Amino acid sequence: MAGSEPIDQAATPAARFRRFRVVEKHRDNDLISSFVLAPEDPADWCTFHPGQFLSIKIPRTEGRPVLRNYSVSSDPAIRGSYRITVKREAAPQADLPDGIGSSYLHDQIEVGSTLDMAGPRGHFYLDETSTRPLVLLSGGVGLTPMVAMLHVAARQTGRKIWFIHACRNGEHQALADEVKAVATQHPTIVSHTVYQSPTATDRIAGRFNSEGFIDRECLQALLPPDDYECYLCGPPAFMQAVYDTLRGLGIPDERIAYEFFGPATVLNKTPTEPL
Ligand SMILES: Cc1cc2nc3c(=O)[nH]c(=O)nc-3n(C[C@H](O)[C@H](O)[C@H](O)COP(=O)(O)OP(=O)(O)OC[C@H]3O[C@@H](n4cnc5c(N)ncnc54)[C@H](O)[C@@H]3O)c2cc1C
Repeated sequence: MAGSEPIDQAATPAARFRRFRVVEKHRDNDLISSFVLAPEDPADWCTFHPGQFLSIKIPRTEGRPVLRNYSVSSDPAIRGSYRITVKREAAPQADLPDGIGSSYLHDQIEVGSTLDMAGPRGHFYLDETSTRPLVLLSGGVGLTPMVAMLHVAARQTGRKIWFIHACRNGEHQALADEVKAVATQHPTIVSHTVYQSPTATDRIAGRFNSEGFIDRECLQALLPPDDYECYLCGPPAFMQAVYDTLRGLGIPDERIAYEFFGPATVLNKTPTEPL
């Protein structure tokens, strides 16, 4: 499934660093902002598979730049620019530094700023040749590749899609209006949002569909037995829990593609008996 038909990236500008200019910056919420980036040379834009990521050089006042990866969250049909959606990673305690790349992007980068980037690249992307019912599962800012996939899958005639997203509450959710708009336009899409701890405003506004976590009960209620293809992205604990639940529901390992945003790169695949 994912990664089966790579674009020949050596033959596209994706393989090298190019200079991009920020043409839009949007504050999604207190923690998450989106940046729309266009190459200084329009020929440096190249097509991408939904799910792929960009590598950005983050300059340092001292020492060499560091590289950070950000999934493209925009629809690949929007040519000429890419959007990334970045969560600010604050220091876990006062004596430690804030995240280097995310703080730089949030604090130093405005409309008109430039960034050196390579990509899009990566093997975690939607298999557009498949017509199987599709389940896009995300936790927190892990929704970014899923939103790009959602746009593309929505145009696949008749393909059934479940977009299932978990986050803390409405103050932490990103790209909610965009997901809602795509789902509203396509009756084949079920969008389900799970809040861990909804606020009073979330309840009054009816912003979420269920409370708690994406667990077995939640998935059983949403997904009638079928031959699904699933894509996962989110924090490590989310990924392991959702992977185990999907396996427990009888979804084969080869129908589950996933990507970590952090250092954990593999899931524990100890065989799980169907529940
Ligand atoms: C393929 C891929 C796609 C990704 N896509 C996205 C995306 O779409 N959106 C997104 O927001 N992120 C994405 N990420 C994550 C992103 O690449 C960065 O890892 C993330 O932004 C954090 O980087 P940073 O430089 O801000 O933090 P870092 O500097 O790497 O620090 C990480 C955390 O560690 C803390 N820290 C610093 N020093 C210490 C210490 N000594 N002890 C303990 N903790 C410490 C920091 O405060 C911070 O909270 C993606 C990652 C990958 C691999």
